[in-house]
Amino acid sequence: MNRSLFLKILAGFVIVIVAMAGLTLLLSYRTIRNHHLETQREGLRLLAMGLRPAFSSALAEHDPARLDSLAKDLGLHTNSRITVVDPEGSVIADSWSNPAEMENHRTRPEIMRALRGEVGTSLRYSATLQEDLLYVAVPVGREGYVDGVLRVSLRLESIDVALAGLRNDILIIGSFVAILSLIGALLFSRSFSRPIGQLTAASRRVAAGDFDARVLLKGGGEVKELADSFNYMTDRVKSLFGELSDKSEELNGVVGTIQDGLLVLDKEGRIILSNPGFARIVGDEAVNGKFYWEVTRVPELDELVRTTTARRASSVREVPLGGRMYLCSGDFLSSREGVVLLIHDITDMKNMEKVKKDFIVNLSHELRTPLTAIKGFLETLQDEVTVDGQHYLGIVRRHTDRLANIVEDLLVLSELEDSGTELHIEKVDLKHLIEDVIHVFEPRVRERGLEMKLEAGEGGTVVSGDRFKLEQVFINLIDNAVKYTEQGGVVIRITADDANFLVAVEDTGTGIPEEHLSRIFERFYVVDKSRSKKVGGTGLGLSIVKHIILLHSGTVNVDSEPGKGTRFTVTIPASQHS
Ligand code: ADP
Repeated sequence: MNRSLFLKILAGFVIVIVAMAGLTLLLSYRTIRNHHLETQREGLRLLAMGLRPAFSSALAEHDPARLDSLAKDLGLHTNSRITVVDPEGSVIADSWSNPAEMENHRTRPEIMRALRGEVGTSLRYSATLQEDLLYVAVPVGREGYVDGVLRVSLRLESIDVALAGLRNDILIIGSFVAILSLIGALLFSRSFSRPIGQLTAASRRVAAGDFDARVLLKGGGEVKELADSFNYMTDRVKSLFGELSDKSEELNGVVGTIQDGLLVLDKEGRIILSNPGFARIVGDEAVNGKFYWEVTRVPELDELVRTTTARRASSVREVPLGGRMYLCSGDFLSSREGVVLLIHDITDMKNMEKVKKDFIVNLSHELRTPLTAIKGFLETLQDEVTVDGQHYLGIVRRHTDRLANIVEDLLVLSELEDSGTELHIEKVDLKHLIEDVIHVFEPRVRERGLEMKLEAGEGGTVVSGDRFKLEQVFINLIDNAVKYTEQGGVVIRITADDANFLVAVEDTGTGIPEEHLSRIFERFYVVDKSRSKKVGGTGLGLSIVKHIILLHSGTVNVDSEPGKGTRFTVTIPASQHS
């Protein structure tokens, strides 16, 4: 049972019952006493009226001795005090005191009224007897003339003595009722607080995780309803909890089967969820609750978490961990302001890639020498073959040139793709650099009847970059523009915005159909194979452009309309590396 609630309810009842009983007793005693006084007053009045004729003649005759003995005699019989006062207020007779020793009574309220011909009553302290008395005074006289006043009085003490028994009775009955009420209150408090106590205990059990706690109450009423609702609620919570834990188990099962490492970090970088895959990667089973950097300290991972949190968006990064290479993707978890990391092992893929790259580099190097030799001998043969032979020699030379171009481009690309590629950063004036490139192309442009011009604003066009590689970018772009343009020309435009220089290489050539635009930066991707072969393309030029621009933290975009022309826009950060 809930003791404190029980005591509180009981204390409330006790206070109310005691207060009510006390008040009721007090008020009822006072009412009864007042009523008794009223009855006594009326009795005294009737007594005074009855005695008046007896005193009337003695007063008329001015016989104080007779008046006094009459007062004493009648006072004894009526058990009351009888006083006679003359019209001046002097006491002539008194049944309890010596009138000669009594002071003038003219100012006594009951006497004053009686002298005016009315019945005067008063309840007050008697200076003569030094106790509380109830007085009733009536005028005595004839034909409207007041000869004196007859006053009858009664000790208040005697009234109180008469009421004492009644008071005791009231007190006993009141106490009896109060005790009965208190027993009722005790029983009610107990019956009210017991179910509440049961509910409290059951709630505590539920809070501690025991969903089998139930409150079984007999009878009806609101508390029973409350208990039933509690039981229903606990049932629902139990089933919801069950569903939730089933789901969570299912989820844990799924997360556990993922071979990749899975990590969920909170705002501070603390691991709030991880899977066995991650434990395998870091070789630590107990990672939950630790900071991710306590488990594995890799700058690349720090960087990934930082960028994902800062951008509040997904980002991907290769992260070396324990001698293997992983592809980590970070996703922002907006509900917790945290990060979800998925760590996929790409070591084998990387090894394969390296083997492939090494193979290409080795092959390209191996091909370079024989190709140079073939080209040399072709030059030698040129003067010695017949006219027919010249034709075949031309075909051989074209194919040899194409092969040599592919080999060169492959070598450049391999070098760029090598993660250790270093840029030789210096101040490069884009305008001068492009002017030099244009200069190289001038004979070809002229030969093909095209036009080429460079448009640059007034401001400086200096960037920090690798001169040789940037040159390669514009050679490739302008070479393509010239290659794929039959008529019209090429315009190179240099502009700048707040943070970048923008170089647009725009031609009026064949254009590129929409469906190819997203793939033309891939290695060996050509839109029209026969045309590409004819113009000596390798399908590697734009890959090289893209790599170099990315190394400069820039971007390259293309927009084109088939039949009208193509525009490649290169963006290079103005302040990069400066
Ligand atoms: P390629 O050596 O074949 O030119 P690139 O990588 O430089 O290889 O270009 C890939 C393909 O994109 C080309 O085969 C060509 O079809 C298309 N392309 C590139 N630049 C242009 C251009 N300025 N106009 C039309 N097509 C172009």
